[in-house]
Amino acid sequence: MENITMCDVIIIGKGPAGISASLYAVRAGLNVIVIGKDSGSLGKASRIENYYGFDGGINASELFENGIKGAERLGVHVITDEVFEIENMNGLFHITSSHGIYESAVCILAAGSSRKTLPIKGLSDYEGKGVSYCAVCDGFFYKNLPVAVIGNAEYAVSEAKHLTSIASEVTILTNGLSMTASVPDEIKVNESPIASIEGDDLLHKVVFKDGSTLDVEGVFVAIGTASSVDLARKLGVVDSEGKIDVDENMATFIPGFYTAGDCNGGLLQVAKAVGEGAIAGTSAVKYVKSLKSK
Ligand SMILES: Cc1cc2nc3c(=O)[nH]c(=O)nc-3n(C[C@H](O)[C@H](O)[C@H](O)COP(=O)(O)OP(=O)(O)OC[C@H]3O[C@@H](n4cnc5c(N)ncnc54)[C@H](O)[C@@H]3O)c2cc1C
Repeated sequence: MENITMCDVIIIGKGPAGISASLYAVRAGLNVIVIGKDSGSLGKASRIENYYGFDGGINASELFENGIKGAERLGVHVITDEVFEIENMNGLFHITSSHGIYESAVCILAAGSSRKTLPIKGLSDYEGKGVSYCAVCDGFFYKNLPVAVIGNAEYAVSEAKHLTSIASEVTILTNGLSMTASVPDEIKVNESPIASIEGDDLLHKVVFKDGSTLDVEGVFVAIGTASSVDLARKLGVVDSEGKIDVDENMATFIPGFYTAGDCNGGLLQVAKAVGEGAIAGTSAVKYVKSLKSK
């Protein structure tokens, strides 16, 4: 049986938004776990010159590390791990990661804004006509049909595993890269670089740079790590323009599910991420209190 870790609040993302949310939740006495893969946008920035309280600015990595240290000092458990999927089951959130499964009453998504796609001819043309970014949402349309998943890491394997029970055949296409995760026997792997995605009104095949082809009716893009939108889409909280649907309390329509920071779009700055994290954290506290008083 898989190892399940339980707590009141799980926050995905250990950047400014996630850590800010964790401070409000832990100080209200809740048991809080923050799961983050890496240093996110602050890891790509050098110096932050425009954040309140730092005369002369602060090194971005130092700001990131200080945030985590402060949260840990207050009792937040900050874990380095990669999340593949969030599910809402009977009012509880099940979060699947590289290390196991976490379960909580509240989930705050603060996984930043990165969205990865590939410059493959035809890929964007066939979005919604065979190209999908969510196996849980769209896998159903490919019952007994061959499909492919583009990616080379654990997230791609996780998406491919979902599809094995639906599709007739599932092939992971690494597009010239080597697999970095182990792949179950029932899933094929093709490492050839991809030239184009082709079809008529609907997608029908993948053409490789060496001239070979693979007949598929669906291509699922799962490059690198699951982004905020990838994770939110599986819960149905992403609108038709690809934006997460969230209100002024950072609440989605799913009770107990909040989002904060760059993943909500708008001003992509530390100040806004910290502010939204604070709102999401206090909303989470109110929600858990309301559950406990029932
Ligand atoms: C080059 C650069 C320079 C910048 N300069 C400034 C500046 O001068 N001033 C300023 O205010 N802002 C600046 N920013 C923007 C600022 O860094 C962001 O607005 C801020 O970091 C957003 O915080 P966040 O918590 O929403 O997301 P992030 O800081 O991106 O944190 C996201 C977190 O989610 C984690 N994550 C993502 N996917 C997963 C997953 N599947 N599983 C587990 N964890 C996951 C990441 O590892 C990370 O821990 C800059 C950004 C860049 C890229």
